Amino acid sequence: MRILVTAGPTREWLDPVRFLSNPSTGTMGYLVAGECLARGDEVFLVSGPTALAPPEGAVFRPVETAREMAAEVAALFPRVDCLFMTAAVSDWRPRFSRCKIKKRGAGRRALALYPNPDILAACGRRKKKGQVLFGFALETTGLVESALAKIRAKNLDWILVNDPGFFGTENRPHSSLLVSRSGAVTDLSDRPKEEIARLLRDRVEED
Ligand code: C5P
Repeated sequence: MRILVTAGPTREWLDPVRFLSNPSTGTMGYLVAGECLARGDEVFLVSGPTALAPPEGAVFRPVETAREMAAEVAALFPRVDCLFMTAAVSDWRPRFSRCKIKKRGAGRRALALYPNPDILAACGRRKKKGQVLFGFALETTGLVESALAKIRAKNLDWILVNDPGFFGTENRPHSSLLVSRSGAVTDLSDRPKEEIARLLRDRVEED
């Protein structure tokens, strides 16, 4: 099969020396890409900056911003059977200043943010029969309800929704649920990520 995987964070630059981003490591996406390669798939990996080496054999497309990722995904999506959208895409970007923004006093400074394209939702709108879409989400409350709402809003087949457990000083148990378009829920909490990658790849065939 031809599989497209996105992974890692995006970087949204404010000026030549600063960006907004998030702590995504890219691990889940790189494991899914490796699992697909092990099964003989042709794999395209579109990744934001991570510390990971791309798995051998993947067609690797490194990107930084959400808009760069959107352009790569738009070009590749029509050619693939399945998209695993594991990337932690920044929903917003600041206006880019070509010169380094000066400090100019110690007063408060407002930052205007502009919405980035929703890459997965765009694929959901263009999805052809036979193409399988996996979304990934982080939620801290109402995991199943919000997973189902995202499946509908973005026209997905599956979504893996995680509660990261640690938030601030609170220590909740980690949970990880795979939710299908029909509402079936598989609890994958505390399974190793390698096993989750295998289970996700199994679902492509089932669809
Ligand atoms: O709506 P939410 O951001 O929680 O949905 C998460 C899913 O949507 C992830 O699979 C993520 O990669 C994708 N996404 C996207 N483009 C965005 C924001 C999220 O493709 N701008």
